[in-house]
Amino acid sequence: MYRAEPDPGLAGQADFWPRGKVLGGSSSINAMVWVRGAREDFDDWSAAGNPGWGYDDLLPDFKAIEDFDGGENAWRGVGGPVHVSRIDKKIHPLTHRYLAAAQAAGLPANPDFNGATQEGVGLYQLTAKDGRRVSSSRAFLRPAMKRENLTVLTGAQVTRVLFEGRRAIGVEYRCNGRLETARCRREVILSGGAINSPQLLQLSGVGPADLLARHGIAIVADNENVGRHMADHQGINYSWRAKAPTLNQRLRPWWGKLLAGMEYLLLRSGPLSISINQGGGFFRTSPDEPRPNMQLYFQAFSTVIPKPGERPVLNPDPWPGFSIGLSNCRTHNRGTVEIASPDPFTAPRIVANAFSHEKDVADMLAAVKFLRTIAAQQPIAEIIEAEIVPGPSVQSDDDLIADFRKRSGTVYHPCSTCRMGPDPEHSVVDSRLRVHGVDGLRVADASIFPNLIAGNTNAAAILVGWKAGAIILEDHA
Ligand SMILES: Cc1cc2nc3c(=O)[nH]c(=O)nc-3n(C[C@H](O)[C@H](O)[C@H](O)COP(=O)(O)OP(=O)(O)OC[C@H]3O[C@@H](n4cnc5c(N)ncnc54)[C@H](O)[C@@H]3O)c2cc1C
Repeated sequence: MYRAEPDPGLAGQADFWPRGKVLGGSSSINAMVWVRGAREDFDDWSAAGNPGWGYDDLLPDFKAIEDFDGGENAWRGVGGPVHVSRIDKKIHPLTHRYLAAAQAAGLPANPDFNGATQEGVGLYQLTAKDGRRVSSSRAFLRPAMKRENLTVLTGAQVTRVLFEGRRAIGVEYRCNGRLETARCRREVILSGGAINSPQLLQLSGVGPADLLARHGIAIVADNENVGRHMADHQGINYSWRAKAPTLNQRLRPWWGKLLAGMEYLLLRSGPLSISINQGGGFFRTSPDEPRPNMQLYFQAFSTVIPKPGERPVLNPDPWPGFSIGLSNCRTHNRGTVEIASPDPFTAPRIVANAFSHEKDVADMLAAVKFLRTIAAQQPIAEIIEAEIVPGPSVQSDDDLIADFRKRSGTVYHPCSTCRMGPDPEHSVVDSRLRVHGVDGLRVADASIFPNLIAGNTNAAAILVGWKAGAIILEDHA
């Protein structure tokens, strides 16, 4: 599912970057869904022994990061580097039917998942401005590249952190086929993401002693938490054939793709200017759940019939179709990331262990049944011709479970593989993001989440980077 495949944008930040030139651009058609996570998620982070990481502590940061086009209020910010757009005026008409059906099924309407509460059904907001994606590169890196003291090197892969004793003194990296080193004056900050940051630590001698010994890597700091506790959202789609037009008719034919492409390029509008996931929601699979434990995604689009070798998203079905997707919010299973070789160019071994915990199975079973409850409500039921996937023959609990075990997959939200906490017995970095047991080394990315949040992880990952900046400035003041 995951690939340890660095793209040409070098990870890791700070003053150790060697001089070089920047290649390529950061803009992309597909904007990302912007969901911060639930207040309780961050309160859990703080309760896990991380002062300063509770929701009330972080709210000013979340607000400062944002430039929300819905305006400022108690929860939302304007004027920040990440433009967040509402999509109310751009959604496909079927999305209105989904919203009405979900409410008919008992969910409250929620005008803002990033506002007073996450619970309920509503529209996603996107990291986009005027139809153009606002990536973290566009929001943060490119403006910072005007500074004299920042050099960005692309096409480079860090292969290990260099240590003198227990102090990180720089990194080794490969660029243009050559192995280079970059030394730092103060510290090294790894931001390789939840797969590659633990991989890099392990390659550098910081990790479980038995794993490092197995690969002949000299131990700098034995910490069994590096690469452990991996959490991720597991998602699945149900798809229906519709009696009403969907995006399939617009995006299936070559001329439809061409028109949509031209509409995007000329007007920055049309289906390519917003996310496939337009409607969303957060709900509880049982009233006994203390908070929403499932997330919804509505797509006026279906890709049941894949073409071999092509990304399904590029090939909508030949008939009108739509999908409602689900992912769990806070899984109970935990996975691992372990190096498979001392060679930094060998992908690490990732074991997700999805649905290895019975609570995750029970929650997903209840959730997929609720998808059908939504689909049975009049606003949407009246335009359904047939359920295509998994299809009406899949009814029993055993069959539903077998189906989601087979068809579900990562939503690409891995985290917690270098989790934050007060001691090295249970965590990898402290609340100031310093790696336990060594000096001069921090990690700042989704790997440090003490636990998985409810919702898409990009906003929380950006928050970690934002707060890391403030912490580092404070520590070096
Ligand atoms: C297909 C997809 C769709 C997604 N959609 C959404 C969405 O709509 N909304 C949302 O909230 N979240 C979304 N996410 C999740 C979101 O992208 C992540 O939560 C977020 O990017 C995590 O940030 P990070 O800084 O931890 O890691 P990353 O963004 O992965 O950054 C790590 C960087 O380090 C680089 N790197 C890694 N190892 C090395 C090395 N050894 N040397 C040099 N560079 C290295 C990588 O190339 C990468 O650029 C999506 C993810 C995927 C994969």
